[in-house]
Amino acid sequence: MPELPEVETVRRGLIPVMEGKLIRRADVNRPDLRWPFPENMAERLTGKVIERLRRRSKYILADLSSGETLLIHLGMSGRMLISTGPHPEIQKHDHVVFHMQDDARVVFNDVRRFGAMDMAPTAMMADHKLLASIGPEPLGNAFDEDYLVNRLAGKKSPIKNALLDQHIVAGLGNIYVCEVLLRAGVSPLCKAGDLTVVQRRSLVPIIRDVLGEAIESGGSSLKDYRQADGELGYFQHSFRAYGREGEPCVTDGCNGKIQRIVQAGRSTFYCAQCQR
Ligand SMILES: [Zn+2]
Repeated sequence: MPELPEVETVRRGLIPVMEGKLIRRADVNRPDLRWPFPENMAERLTGKVIERLRRRSKYILADLSSGETLLIHLGMSGRMLISTGPHPEIQKHDHVVFHMQDDARVVFNDVRRFGAMDMAPTAMMADHKLLASIGPEPLGNAFDEDYLVNRLAGKKSPIKNALLDQHIVAGLGNIYVCEVLLRAGVSPLCKAGDLTVVQRRSLVPIIRDVLGEAIESGGSSLKDYRQADGELGYFQHSFRAYGREGEPCVTDGCNGKIQRIVQAGRSTFYCAQCQR
């Protein structure tokens, strides 16, 4: 499932063909994805300019000249396919097609249909049911050391689960939380409230670094995608913890091995030797 860095990479990849551009026509090829599409979605998109393409957590938000915002969630398998002509034939899972100005085309393709789109007035977007209770952006100013120290104080859940809690911080998923905890030298099993203030503070710059590096590496893969017709959605990153069960820990001076456990139904990869 795409996490925050992948969604941010998709957004950046879409900017050249979508931001500031007119949607000449939109085709909506089925009634729903995970949920029904909003009423008259094709008409509400057609003829509008996308004034700004932004991101909140794992949602892409397109602010339209009509005063509405289109919300896009990629779900498990959603991809954005960019072509600048000649355009490939529309395929079975191409559910929404944006015919943009300059003959560019953006197709939302989603085999498993866990993705979602919705539309609402831009002024109301912060209160949208999918966005209203989400915590601060990990790369934004509201997410700082004091915030996290206070937010984790007294928490009895494991730090792994606390960092996955979208009310505490937006957009962090399983893969990047494992990376963050390995770099921090903090056991995923440790109760969040038992971390020292120094440990809790240290998580903030590490979270920013891990996400920032992933966004940068997504950006470099974007350059390759642009040479051909672009497909945005998934990128191959290398992880230090995630998916490395049984492999040596790469932390300096540690000779432990990465192990896999299950927490709250999800895989956690960590090194019991250097993560305490
Ligand atoms: Zn280690």
